[in-house]
Amino acid sequence: MSRFLKEAFRTLVPYTPGEQPQNRKYIKLNTNESPFPPAPEVLDRVKNESELLRLYPDPDQKELRKAGAVYYGIAEDEIIFVNGSDEILAFAFEAFCDENTGVIFPDISYGFYSVYADKFGIDAVKAPLKEDFTINVDDYINTGRTVFIANPNAPTGIALPLSDIERIVAGNPDNIVVVDEAYVDFGGESALPLIHKYNNLLVTQTFSKSRSLAGGRLGMGMADREIIRDLNTVRNSTNPYNINRMTLAAGVASFEADDYFKEKCETIKDNREFTVSELKKLDFEILDSKTNFIFVKSPAISGDELFKSLREAGILVRHFTAERIREYNRITIGSRQDMESLISCVKEILENNEKI
Ligand SMILES: *Cc1c(COP(=O)(O)O)cnc(C)c1O
Repeated sequence: MSRFLKEAFRTLVPYTPGEQPQNRKYIKLNTNESPFPPAPEVLDRVKNESELLRLYPDPDQKELRKAGAVYYGIAEDEIIFVNGSDEILAFAFEAFCDENTGVIFPDISYGFYSVYADKFGIDAVKAPLKEDFTINVDDYINTGRTVFIANPNAPTGIALPLSDIERIVAGNPDNIVVVDEAYVDFGGESALPLIHKYNNLLVTQTFSKSRSLAGGRLGMGMADREIIRDLNTVRNSTNPYNINRMTLAAGVASFEADDYFKEKCETIKDNREFTVSELKKLDFEILDSKTNFIFVKSPAISGDELFKSLREAGILVRHFTAERIREYNRITIGSRQDMESLISCVKEILENNEKI
């Protein structure tokens, strides 16, 4: 650290992304990317758009906002696009939290919430998940805080029914409730229909997981138009060109290639059910996932050992060290072939483990 870094940042611990190895070829099941390429139309549009790279992108995101509004059946001023949904989470912290308005989110959830709370100096309450890793809805009523809930949650994969989300939104009429739906396309229930009923709800989604565009960096927020206006104020005071041309074009084409999108989501769900049933045969405990990953634990081997053995065998999964979840691993659902390799590798690891 240099001697110039401001006091408040000296203890800042940044978010730890899952590794993106550049050396050896792994089966990559650690960062919830899609195993499939973007739709062919998306790639074509990106290529055409790259010819215009000398020009700034449209700071109003007009074409993409129109495509998104049509796709979701909302108005063009009820949607904002961002450089990955991490960016809108940051904008929400900047716009809707301060020394008077803290935040509340589950103790086991997306790691970025506490990183942003630290970065922006916001007081954070981490409400413990119940023993079974579900959210205790009563913890989120009348909080006096900005609420952040990932639904389905990560890294558990568990989804909260829409009725519970609605209770939380209705239970905090004077605070923003952010529902982070990064994984909603894999079987969750979106809170989007509620944005016309409640003017304190912000729904965020991403193109990184279900739309095969993690490398393009594209996310979005949907809410009452006044909330979107506030977020645009933050965006335009940060970087009005937050989304590059090629990614704007990719977003439009992705909405158009809807059959491809839906088919790939179905394939992931099938592969998830296959993987769950195979791992259950090996006595794994698996939380009920509505996402493109599963959160699993074996009675026969520790979370850390399984993580390391898989890594040695060329398969990357995600292991967290927090006390409550250290025996678990989060495994991204990849292609059927990826998952078959995973299963046979796990079998081998368990067999070798028994012999010791
Ligand atoms: C992956 C993820 C995000 C952010 O994804 P982006 O790539 O920044 O769009 C946000 N929330 C959760 C819960 C995630 O898992």
